[in-house]
Amino acid sequence: MADKRDYYEVLGVSKDASAEELKKAYRKITKENHPDLHPGDKACEERFKEANEAYEILSDEEKRKKYDQFGHAAFDPNAGYGAGFGDFGGFGGFGGFGDIFGDIFGSFTGGTRANPNAPRRGESVRATVNISFEEAAFGCKKEVAVGVVEGCPDCKGTGCAPGTTPEICPDCKGSGTVTVNQRTPFGVMQSSSPCSKCRGTGKIIHQPCKTCRGMGKIRRQHKVEINIPAGIDDGQTISKPGAGNAGVNGGPAGDLLVSVIVRPHARFERDGTSVLLEQEISYAQAALGAEIEVPTLDGKVKLTIPEGTQPGAVFRLKGKGIPFLRGSGRGDQFVSVLVKVPKNLTGSQKELLRQFAASMGELDGDAGRGIFSRKKH
Ligand code: ZN
Repeated sequence: MADKRDYYEVLGVSKDASAEELKKAYRKITKENHPDLHPGDKACEERFKEANEAYEILSDEEKRKKYDQFGHAAFDPNAGYGAGFGDFGGFGGFGGFGDIFGDIFGSFTGGTRANPNAPRRGESVRATVNISFEEAAFGCKKEVAVGVVEGCPDCKGTGCAPGTTPEICPDCKGSGTVTVNQRTPFGVMQSSSPCSKCRGTGKIIHQPCKTCRGMGKIRRQHKVEINIPAGIDDGQTISKPGAGNAGVNGGPAGDLLVSVIVRPHARFERDGTSVLLEQEISYAQAALGAEIEVPTLDGKVKLTIPEGTQPGAVFRLKGKGIPFLRGSGRGDQFVSVLVKVPKNLTGSQKELLRQFAASMGELDGDAGRGIFSRKKH
């Protein structure tokens, strides 16, 4: 895989394609190249896999941004940036999710930041999982690889080299903020800002821990097993509480949010809990009635086509649809019938059809103009 194709090229869309355009292109390519429709065709299988990989990245806003910036290297575990330490910048005390509470709190207390030593919740971590149509219908267990920030095991999150302790910042006395008196035309105004000496942390680390370079945290790749419930649909998110980034100062960990991509099925479409299937039948089967076999999620079942079935007729197979995500029970499968018009008939078959047409009063001796001549009556 030395010359990996560009993900946008794989899906045949432009770099500024919308989420909707991406999804459409992805569905089209995976439907056309579905391995179930082309057994043993390596080229189709490759296209199918390639499209799945491209969509997994581009359908995730954050991953797409990284891909746009770094290209394939963003997701190469050996490249060292993007999916690796590129994420690191965000959490160093300011910015990031954990600080949202700090900011809200700050605005209530007249501009002072929340106590830097207060417990804060870790950020949520996002991941994507790609599952088959059947796995979505019946549920499954999947392992997803996620990079999670956790407390450094060597310094227990203090950021200090073993045997040393942080010094309380002498400028802000550990509060992380300093108050400044300013003379203005309206009198003396007090304002507070993050302490510049300790950068708002309230602590000064003289000998940083080598493992985490004084951050108190490290980023690790984990394999997390997630239970995907039966009935999940494309685009839904599963959350695993506490499997996200570690909290700060003893705060709880964030959540892991896994968004689900359901690969298209070769034959089935899905609409909520309904499974939709288009089934071809012959002209004779439609006219005379027949018992045919149709695929369902539970294997083949018999379906009775009554005499005189019209093209587009829809039959319901009760309880053969998708299990309800909440509660018990299942949706239905709907089979819509396509009537095949026979092609390449032999001479004797044509003759039989002419006789048939004549018996229906459709022919005025000229087989080619049957319908038009009837309209003139
Ligand atoms: Zn450390």
